[in-house]
Amino acid sequence: MDEPLIHSPVVRTSFAQHLKQEPLAPLRLGKGSGNEKLSKLERRIGKKIYTLTLRAGHDCPFAEDCRARAVVDDKGKAHLEDLSTEYRCYAASLQALRPTMREVGERNSRILHEACHRGVIVGATCLMEAFPSAAAVLRAHVAGDYFSYRYFKAMCLAADRCPELEIYGHTKSLEYVERALEMELIPPNMKLSLSVQKGQAAWATKLRLMAQAQGLKMACAYVLQPTAAQYSPMPVDHDDYLAYTAEEDYALVVHGTQPSRR
Ligand code: SF4
Repeated sequence: MDEPLIHSPVVRTSFAQHLKQEPLAPLRLGKGSGNEKLSKLERRIGKKIYTLTLRAGHDCPFAEDCRARAVVDDKGKAHLEDLSTEYRCYAASLQALRPTMREVGERNSRILHEACHRGVIVGATCLMEAFPSAAAVLRAHVAGDYFSYRYFKAMCLAADRCPELEIYGHTKSLEYVERALEMELIPPNMKLSLSVQKGQAAWATKLRLMAQAQGLKMACAYVLQPTAAQYSPMPVDHDDYLAYTAEEDYALVVHGTQPSRR
């Protein structure tokens, strides 16, 4: 793995620049204890889980099969915009319905976009300042995805600097994962599930094998309709445990209200 960037002259310059700029507001992490599925997982693994929420659909540059997003009109009323006919993103449905969840996603997204625009080190610093101080688990993300390669690198760097924190979650940003794997930038406490879209199975499998060769935990996750899941030879992840372990490929079942098929 690359020597931690933090000691390089480039990093010192970035920090100096960061200090001269307007300070960023802190990110807001959620608590797994507020979510039925995650609180069960907390009990099962005996660790506290925190969550990072961004904007579903807006912050997902590679989402095709699932894409939906909450859009607020001129009168301040939110509605759901479906951009895919395969299945509807559940997090986007929630963000269209629940202002609090939407606002947290918007706030975190705004802060992280600005931080990563200033640089990878600033993005990583912003993340590290929000991370819990004790050993814990971060579910990144409950909405949204790695919206840029800079952000993905910032998360890798922050994870590398905080080895007591485990970071897990799904991503459709396979392109960024591939670039980071080629540079061996992903630390072992980042456990990713590659959310496989149509035509990506071979690519995702190649990335999983690359990751395993580097000693990382990485799984491919296939989203299936309920009937297909019944006949799937893969285990189905009902409680996030398989996402957390990222040790074997698994299936997820589409849930929430779905748009009518056109
Ligand atoms: S990538 Fe995830 S958060 Fe983004 S639209 Fe798809 S399901 Fe929703």
